[in-house]
Amino acid sequence: MPQIIDGKAISGAIKDELKEKVEEMKAEGIRICLAVVQVGNDPASSVYVGNKKKACAYIGIDSLSYELPEETTQEELLDLIGELNAKKEVNGILVQLPLPDHIDEDTVIRAIDPKKDVDGFHPQNVGALCIGQPGFVSCTPSGIIQLLKRSGIEIAGKECVVIGRSNIVGKPMALLLLRENATVTVAHSKTKNLREVAKRADILVVAVGKPKMITREYVKEGAVVIDVGIHRNEDKKMCGDVDYDDVAPVCSAITPVPGGVGPMTIAMLMNNCVASASMK
Ligand code: NDP
Repeated sequence: MPQIIDGKAISGAIKDELKEKVEEMKAEGIRICLAVVQVGNDPASSVYVGNKKKACAYIGIDSLSYELPEETTQEELLDLIGELNAKKEVNGILVQLPLPDHIDEDTVIRAIDPKKDVDGFHPQNVGALCIGQPGFVSCTPSGIIQLLKRSGIEIAGKECVVIGRSNIVGKPMALLLLRENATVTVAHSKTKNLREVAKRADILVVAVGKPKMITREYVKEGAVVIDVGIHRNEDKKMCGDVDYDDVAPVCSAITPVPGGVGPMTIAMLMNNCVASASMK
């Protein structure tokens, strides 16, 4: 049986470490505050926002909540971001995505002060990652690096294949693996012979957004498989982009869904919030 990479336990350990750090910071008079902005009331976004606020409360980070109506204009949202950028007591700003269609996400992301961009989506932070300089890193891929390291899985020198090239998962994932000295291939919807490409991987990271697409035909015997996908099937059961039951017997380690990558995203967001307090 493969090693089951326990994202729940690892994210719990990270949150406990951060909680201790925040207590020490509070003793020195440093408070951390995250502003969370949601536009509209998409139920999935409301769950994510609720979980982020809960994690803040657990760790000891103050959170400010802005729940704006669906018809909020882009100008109104940009004005609020301007106010939050100027507020000294706010260390981090998180605008929950997706935004309603009449608001341009890129414009909103660029409006956030890069020093408060705890999601790591601002082009300045993405550029810093690209050239190996300090900055905020997108939470899901940085959580995956933590999962690998804390599970004792060596990255340096490994063949890593990332399936998916989105700005929030695939691309930063590839850059982070490169930073860890892996040999990285990025595959996407135009990749030819995806099965053969995926089979080269010692570490296969799957972020395609297609339920159970990756079966054992894509996986080399003994590979480590990281499943970023989150889906709910007809009977409301969660699954990932990887067909877990089919793949688990052939790999050496695998992340389950739920309980793998998912919990790490919030833990790394909290990590970025704590880091933001020293980035003024
Ligand atoms: P996107 O839809 O933005 O990107 C999907 C990527 O997969 C694209 O680069 C696309 O290629 C590629 N792709 C799609 N179909 C195929 C195919 N048949 N063969 C090869 N490549 C393909 O998704 P995200 O990166 O935002 O998210 C991916 C998954 O991860 C989703 O299930 C999402 O819900 C989940 N997710 C989970 C998070 C967590 O906290 N666990 C956080 C963020 C996302 P192309 O560029 O050519 O179109």
